[in-house]
Amino acid sequence: MELIKTTRGGYKLCFEGYTYTKVKENRITKHWKCSGRHKYNCLVTIKTDVNVSRILNEKKYDDAHTHCPDYVAIEALKVRNSIKEDSRTNRPSVMAPPLARG
Ligand SMILES: [Zn+2]
Repeated sequence: MELIKTTRGGYKLCFEGYTYTKVKENRITKHWKCSGRHKYNCLVTIKTDVNVSRILNEKKYDDAHTHCPDYVAIEALKVRNSIKEDSRTNRPSVMAPPLARG
């Protein structure tokens, strides 16, 4: 289980190939809904403690996703974020001059 920062400044929770966005939180728990809600009409929600160190309703999420886990999408999300981090601190000059032809 891990948190990924989104480009909008929020966080996504990644767990077993699924990503979740935060719905609400209180002093004890945070509620998350599956990011596939719109795309796949997936109604899975999970509940974690405030530190997002463990899932509190582990039984429910298991069989209810309407779609497959997408590890590739999560990796892409991480890569995209790390690229953003890089470009903020150190902008590489990747623009090579066009090759002269003939
Ligand atoms: Zn889902």
